[in-house]
Amino acid sequence: MELRIVALYPEQMNIYADRGNILFLRRRCEWRGIDFSYAAAGPGQSLDPAAHDLIYVGGGQDRDQRIVAEDMVATKGAALAEAVEGSAVVLAVCGGYQLLGHSYQLGDERIRGLGLAELETVREPGPRLIGNIEIEVDLGDGSRELAGFENHGGRTYLGDGAEPLGRVIRGHGNNGTDGLEGVRRANMIGTYLHGPLLPKNAWLADRLIQLALARRYGAEPELAPLDDALEAAAHESARQAALRG
Ligand code: GLN
Repeated sequence: MELRIVALYPEQMNIYADRGNILFLRRRCEWRGIDFSYAAAGPGQSLDPAAHDLIYVGGGQDRDQRIVAEDMVATKGAALAEAVEGSAVVLAVCGGYQLLGHSYQLGDERIRGLGLAELETVREPGPRLIGNIEIEVDLGDGSRELAGFENHGGRTYLGDGAEPLGRVIRGHGNNGTDGLEGVRRANMIGTYLHGPLLPKNAWLADRLIQLALARRYGAEPELAPLDDALEAAAHESARQAALRG
């Protein structure tokens, strides 16, 4: 089996070294004898919706999002829509997450997004939503906890019928008011949890690997267990950080 990943705009959308999540996926595949292929799709490049089973886009400052958004909608929008319809796994973090929605409104300026998720993001007056966060998530295999860090000025509001990724246990989440975090549509996930999201939540990395392999090979494979002592400690430490606020 082979896990096929494509990262969108890895040079532009890599705040907090979000790309490190890809290295984590690679290692967990290699340790299990699963082949791994990595591609990048940057400005001006098109995307083959059937070629990759896991599509990754990291976070970016407003400035980076401005540069990327128009290009992404124009050169990759249709292919991404087709990939999501076809159960491709998408993990979009923070600035990348915001661009899954219809728009990111900054005062008079409106950055148009992909419209793959029923959500809108608005830069409202008020402080940035920063801090450690813990959410409760169920990706079809039982309720689990995700722990991480968020830092965003935009507030995201889900539209009718949109499903959040999870519920906030501690932290701000999408907008600091409705207790929801991220979005989920089929195998597409958007979240504000930044940086080493997957190293802090090895279970999520494995779930994404499973779903991506299932798309290509037809059934969810059993993944061989790994020695996750360090990963378990990282998860616990991130949870404790959220507990402290
Ligand atoms: N620019 C966006 C915001 O502040 C996303 C920031 C980020 O990716 N950290 O809302």
